[in-house]
This record gives sequence, structure tokens and C-alpha cells, in this order.
Amino acid sequence: MTSLPRLDDLRVGGVLPTPKGVALAVMELCQSDSATMEEVARTVMTDPALSGRLIRQANAAASAGRPVVSINEAVRRLGLGLVKQLVLGFSLIDEFSDGHCAAFDYQQFWSHSLLMGLSMQTIARVSRMGPPDDLFACGLLARIGRLALATAYPSDYAEVLQATREGSAAELAEAERERLHIDHNRLGAAMLGEWGFPPALVEPVLFHEQGVDAPFAEGTRNYQICQALSLAARIGDLGLAPEFARHALVAELLAVAGRIGILSEDLGALLDPLMESWAAWGELLKVPTTSLPPFAVIADGPAQRIGADLKGPPLRVLVVDDEEATRRLMQAWLADECGHAVALAPDGRSALALALEQHPQVVLTDWVMPEMDGIELTRALRATDWGRSIYVIMLTALGSEDQLETAFAEGVDDYLTKPFSQRALRARLMAAGRYVRLQEDWSRDRAQLKRIASELAVSNRKLERAALTDALTALPNRRAAISILGQAWSASRRSEQPLSVMMIDIDRFKSINDRHGHAGGDVVLAAVAKLLRESARKDDWVCRTGGEEFLVICPNSPLEAAAQSAERLRKTVAGKPLTVDGKTFAVTVSIGIASRESDTPDADALVSRADEGLYEAKKSGRNRCCLVRAGRKLLGPE
Ligand code: GH3
Ligand code: MG
Ligand code: MG
Repeated sequence: MTSLPRLDDLRVGGVLPTPKGVALAVMELCQSDSATMEEVARTVMTDPALSGRLIRQANAAASAGRPVVSINEAVRRLGLGLVKQLVLGFSLIDEFSDGHCAAFDYQQFWSHSLLMGLSMQTIARVSRMGPPDDLFACGLLARIGRLALATAYPSDYAEVLQATREGSAAELAEAERERLHIDHNRLGAAMLGEWGFPPALVEPVLFHEQGVDAPFAEGTRNYQICQALSLAARIGDLGLAPEFARHALVAELLAVAGRIGILSEDLGALLDPLMESWAAWGELLKVPTTSLPPFAVIADGPAQRIGADLKGPPLRVLVVDDEEATRRLMQAWLADECGHAVALAPDGRSALALALEQHPQVVLTDWVMPEMDGIELTRALRATDWGRSIYVIMLTALGSEDQLETAFAEGVDDYLTKPFSQRALRARLMAAGRYVRLQEDWSRDRAQLKRIASELAVSNRKLERAALTDALTALPNRRAAISILGQAWSASRRSEQPLSVMMIDIDRFKSINDRHGHAGGDVVLAAVAKLLRESARKDDWVCRTGGEEFLVICPNSPLEAAAQSAERLRKTVAGKPLTVDGKTFAVTVSIGIASRESDTPDADALVSRADEGLYEAKKSGRNRCCLVRAGRKLLGPE
């Protein structure tokens, strides 16, 4: 288990969000063992808004039966643990619906958090990974570290947020560490710990933004909850995404859902009611929400989006013209009326410098200009990696077909003949917007595919490793041994270098099992395996090939060297008494050793010879080694 961050050790300079007033009193009451339901209810009653919300939650939880009307009843129905978590969440939402960090969108933060909480509740219900209400609170507060940083360091954090606006969560965390020496994940985890959330929830919260890279073994509870949080976060992103950006989130959503066994065909049935309850809760908590179309429609996506381009997102447009009046007019049309982000440059050279810095999506350039003309600018842009996908519209008074041909040959995407109307310009920008979006979708899909492919490669590698490793001893298993031996055999034949193998078998292991139980036997097996691995030579392969049998493959080792090594292994095991359940006893092994000789037909025959040696060693009293050559030779205690 990783050690969890503690608030005391983090040394946060500013003030962190904490529940106040009635909420704090309720939380403290719920934490004390002696609190009664009545006391808690009495305290809740002093806050009418809180009372209303708890009653509503109690009714939502029990849809059938007599409605809950009193706060006493609500507390009884919900239970103290849940009341505490709900009160914590509700009070933070109220206290921190706004704040001083200019770049932090408080409303959006809670909107996302609420959807994450509800998602966790739903996921818990369908996958049975834990009590839904506990997971609701866990999802609701999983990103509390972000709010905490905005609260503790309003101006520093605003700058961090601005600098990483379009970056990933990992980039944000990196920038936080650089500037504030702490990141939102560690801080959030520490706060949850402080509020009494159990490590089984705090650990997954700490790592949930890492997705598949979170340090949990597949199939563990930590892994499940971590992936569920990761899915809940994607659902939150979907809820907040503007309409044009929703479809692009679907592939990732399906992939993450798949990791916790939620099939794509089931995701819609799960998401649609979830979004409805998000809206209802949003109303209750005064948190903004969006009404989304059914998931199936979002998943189908692009076909209908092409037509809806007119109201696409604003574009980053660079206007290049040597006449100041034209620049001003264009800025007025594009920025003030259409809402695009506009940058201006008086000639091609300064435009190029500006483009390098700002990466515009569209360049509107005059043709004839001092310093560097529009054609030269286009050529220069097309020669760069980032400039190739910019949509270039040429503005020109020149209109001959020859000239147009030149312009398109140099990489211009479209042109407008001066003087032009605002309408004509708008129409051109619509096409530009469509192109930019297709381009962005394409590169996002590509990045997504790449990521999914690399995830698959990682999990395939993990599976492969697991299939070749013995779970008890972590040594290569029988399958791996066969493959290693095959390779060593071929290499030895090719290079005419020696190859030896040892068969090792624990003596009277059955009686160890009889005396110490199967579990005790397992401890002995693991301990012997460890001794063998640590004492074997660096280039030798120690494998577990059967119950209490090991095969050691010694490439480039002649028989005598392997025999010496075997003797060392035997003595090491015999000289190191083991303790199981408080009882200490000696364990011994018998070893058969053989080397590839000119008459050894194949690797199997080599192992059979070592086996014969092992049989011989057992027969002559155990705890000894036996070399198999033309004749046999016993080594062991005199
Ligand atoms: P010998 O000295 O002749 O090798 O005697 P032995 O008792 O070691 O020989 P035998 O091969 O008859 O018994 C091996 C025992 O090992 C039998 C089986 O129950 C036990 N065994 C096999 N695999 C495991 C395992 O994974 N864990 C444990 N605890 N026991 C195992
Ligand atoms: Mg044995
Ligand atoms: Mg055996």
C-alpha cells in the first residue's frame, strides 16, 4: 500500500475549505461514538436549507412507501454515516459557490463534482463495488484539491490555470507542483483523510487521474474504484462539454467503462437516467447543469454536426494586411460581431512570428505587402509542421486566373477578392471552421487510438508476464522454463558453448506439508525459491517447474562449474533453517546435474539426464548432488 499524504505534512500556506456552522457541528456529532440520531436531527433542524435537502435525499432513496416529512425520520432513514457525508458535501457547495480565484470556475467545478458523485453512485449500484452512498460522497469530493488550491492560493492558482488551460490533468498537476509545491491530487487525498474517509477510498482518489497507469493491480478493489472514478470524471467532462465537443469524448468513455466491465451497449441505459438526476440535484443545490440528448445520439454524432457548423466554436484568426483601416474593419467584424479571437499583423514577417507564438487556426492574408508578401507567408507556413494545417484565406485585389493558380499551388486554401462584404467573409469562415473542426476531430481520434493501442499493449504485456510467472514464488514457471531452455539449447549448439541444467527437488516435502499444513508448505516453497534465486549465479535461470521441483538452466556452464554451483545451492538451503508458525527446522534439497554432450539429442534428453541424477541423489540418502556423465558421481556430506 502506498503511504497516503497527510495534511499536517503538506504545509499548505493558505486557508483550506472546511465546512462551517451547522454542517461542522453535524459532522463532529456524527464522528463521536455517543451521538444519537435525535441529537443529530436537532442540529440539522437549525438549518432549513440543509433540512430540506436531507428530506429530499431520504425520499429519493426510498421511492416507495410513505414519504418522509420530518428531519428526524430523514436522519433515521439515511443513517449517521451518510448524513455526515451529505452534510459535508452540501455545506461545501454552499460555502464555495464562488471565491477569489479569477480563473477558477466555481460553479462549473461543483457541476462537474456533482455529476461525478452521482456517476459513482450509479456505477456502484450496477457493479456492486461498494455502498452507493459512500461512493457518491467520494465522487463528489474526489477533486476537492482543486477547489482547495483555488481557495488557498487564489492569485497563484489563477496563473497556473491560465497557463495550462488546454492541458491535461497531469500537466495541471505538474504545473501546480512547480508553482505551489503540491498538486491537487495529494492535497485532496489528504483532506479526505482528514475528514475521515477510509484509505480504501482515498487511495483510488489519489491516483484516479492516472487512468490505467494508476499503480493498482487489475482486479483489486483499489483498481476497480480508481477506474470507476476515472469513468465518473469522463462522465463529468461529457456533461460539461459544449455540444460540438461531446461526440469526441465517447470513445474514451467506452474504453474506460470497459475496464470495469460496463459494456458499451449498457452505457446509455446507465447514463441517461444519471443525467436526469444530475439536473434534479443541480436544482436542489443551485448548481448549474446541462440537459443532454440521449447517449445514443451523442455516440452517433458527426453526421448531424456538419450542418450545425454555423454556430461552431470561436476560431483563432490571424489577419495580415498592411493597411491599418482594413485591419481595424476586419477586427470589428471578426472579433466584435462573430466572437472570434483575432490577432493582427501588418506584414508577412511579423505575421510569421505571431503565428509561431499563437498557432492560429485561420490566417486571412493580403497578397501584396512590404517585407514578406502573402504568398511568401503561405509558403513559409506550409514549410513548418504546425503551419501545414492552418486554413489560409488570401485577400486580393488581383483576380486573374493565373494568379489564383499560383496562390493555390503555394498552399492557399481559399481566396476573397477585395472589396468584399461581411457576408462573403462570414461564408468563407464557415468553411474554415468546418475544416478546422474536422482536422481537430481527426487528430483527437488519432491521439485516442494511439492511447488505446498503447494501453492494450501494456495490458497484453502484463498478461504475458503473468502467464509466464509462477504466482507463489515469482519465478519463471514451467512454460517459461521450456522456452528459456529451448533458446539456451539452440544458442549452445550454434556457438558450441557448454550448457548445463540442474533438477532440484525438496526432500521429504510431503512431511513438511503434513506437519505444517499446506499453507506452511507454501511458505517453505517461497523461501526455498528465494534462497535459490539469490544464491544462483547471475546468468543462471531458476524456474519452478512443478510442485516442489525447480529447474536451473546454466548457459555457458560446463558440468564441473554447474556442479560447484549446485553444491553451493544445496549447502545454502541446508544451512538456513526456516521458521514457520514459530517452529524452526532445516530443509534440504537433492540436485541432479547434467550437461549437453555430443550424444545428447535434444533439450528434453538433457533434462531427463538431470532427472536421473536427482533420482540417484534421493536414492543415496537425499541432501546431495549427483552429476550425470557417462558415469555418475555423488557429492554431498561425507
Ligand atoms: P522426496 O524427498 O522423495 O522428494 O519426498 P517428497 O515428500 O518431497 O516427495 P513427493 O514428490 O512425493 O511429494 C511432494 C509433495 O509436494 C506432494 C504435494 O502434495 C506437495 N505439493 C505439490 N505442490 C505443492 C504446492 O504448491 N504447495 C504445497 N504446500 N505443497 C505442494
Ligand atoms: Mg520432494
Ligand atoms: Mg517431487
